[in-house]
Amino acid sequence: MSFVPELEEILGTSLITDPDITASYSKDQAPFAPFTPAAAVLLARSSEEISKALVFCSERKIPVVTRGAGSGLSGGANADSQSLIVSLEKMNQILEIDPANQLARVQAGVINLDLDIAVKEFGMAYLPDPASRDWSTLGGNVATNAGGMCCVKYGVTSHHVRALTVVLSSGEIIEVGKSTKKFVTTLDLMHLFIGSEGTLGIITEITLNLVPRPNSPATLIATFPNIVLAAAASTELLKYRPSMLEILDQTTLNAVEQWHPLGLEVAGSILLMQLDENFELGDAAITTCESLGMIDGMFSTEASDTADLIRVRKLAYPALERLGATLLDDVAVPVAKIAEFVERVEALAVKHDLIIGIFGHAGDGNMHPTIVHDHGDIEGEKRAKLAFSEIVRIAQSLGGTASGEHGIGIIKRNLVSGETSQTIIDIQRGVKKLLDPSGILNPGKKLP
Ligand SMILES: Cc1cc2nc3c(=O)[nH]c(=O)nc-3n(C[C@H](O)[C@H](O)[C@H](O)COP(=O)(O)OP(=O)(O)OC[C@H]3O[C@@H](n4cnc5c(N)ncnc54)[C@H](O)[C@@H]3O)c2cc1C
Repeated sequence: MSFVPELEEILGTSLITDPDITASYSKDQAPFAPFTPAAAVLLARSSEEISKALVFCSERKIPVVTRGAGSGLSGGANADSQSLIVSLEKMNQILEIDPANQLARVQAGVINLDLDIAVKEFGMAYLPDPASRDWSTLGGNVATNAGGMCCVKYGVTSHHVRALTVVLSSGEIIEVGKSTKKFVTTLDLMHLFIGSEGTLGIITEITLNLVPRPNSPATLIATFPNIVLAAAASTELLKYRPSMLEILDQTTLNAVEQWHPLGLEVAGSILLMQLDENFELGDAAITTCESLGMIDGMFSTEASDTADLIRVRKLAYPALERLGATLLDDVAVPVAKIAEFVERVEALAVKHDLIIGIFGHAGDGNMHPTIVHDHGDIEGEKRAKLAFSEIVRIAQSLGGTASGEHGIGIIKRNLVSGETSQTIIDIQRGVKKLLDPSGILNPGKKLP
């Protein structure tokens, strides 16, 4: 007997149960993560409503999957037929913008870019900028500790969060962190929830840092004969405090050229760097690149040039997608190991007879090798999945990690132990048991 009528009675609201609609809420953007349509979807309106739902689900051991926008790339928001999905999409109010205290308080379903647009009129910015910022939610960003291009200078989402309201699986509503800029009174429980991917509690409200809006950036582009030289140059460029530092390999550049010719076919690799202050350092940065094997380069403070130069990075993933079915990997390595990482991934592409385009955030070693295989080619898909895991193992062998920003979700759970001790795994299980004793919150995700 379905739990739906009883829960609807308790909440005094209808749940979505139409399978065509629940199916669309039951998966994120990860191409090979399993899912089945959930039993029901709750479009939550308040922390109190979520609290009632979690009390009910805890008592009956009904799995609960929290959903922001479903832009995730790890299967973290995927459901099964037993689950209740709690969607935060209706909790999309910006509750407070306080320029004097440089903070904003939002409901978790607010879209990242909507907040940045709203604070612009106060001369402020919300900096974390995942490429999905025009549709991913701040709750999802916090739950995955999302990154983006500006992280090289400004850090990831966790560096911009001051406080959270969280509903625990017991139904209790707690506040962790503080709206003040500094806070060391309790253990830092807030950071336990950041990046917890829906496994420890449902985040319903967030207090975030705002900063005075940075200048429009100036942009440098530098072409190199190969990605090894470009990667070496990228570590040298960090001394200019870039607000963005991206790298693309030749496979990716070729894919872009085939689609939108930008005249970059001579390059084996390119670096794109932005500065949002100290523009006078642009010439020195070009000189640095020249001394490290640059073929050609330019630095421009013109907004129109910036838009043109950045285009190649924006086209990277869609250009690879045009070549076939893609698996987008996400690993982080020490920046000084990028070149070695790339060489080993290139060898992997040859070994498995696959196209692997490599691009990513060179400034923080967060690379996105993208594996391409022919649509419908079952053998190719198997080789691609194998390569996906092997890329993680290469990163781990270099002192890197399975995920820099997309999260573990379902698709990388079996890879976590490759870099984590049994003691750490046990501590995580203990935390999970304490906060979610009935194990209803996003079971089968994140924690090995
Ligand atoms: C085109 C594209 C570009 C992307 N670019 C980037 C990028 O540059 N950087 C980056 O880091 N990621 C990127 N991503 C991945 C994705 O957008 C991020 O992981 C994002 O933070 C997910 O937000 P969401 O609202 O879509 O969350 P969802 O996908 O709905 O959920 C993600 C995870 O968080 C949990 N969750 C969501 N909301 C809450 C909540 N309120 N409380 C508790 N748990 C919650 C879910 O259960 C799930 O485990 C990209 C994705 C796409 C499709």
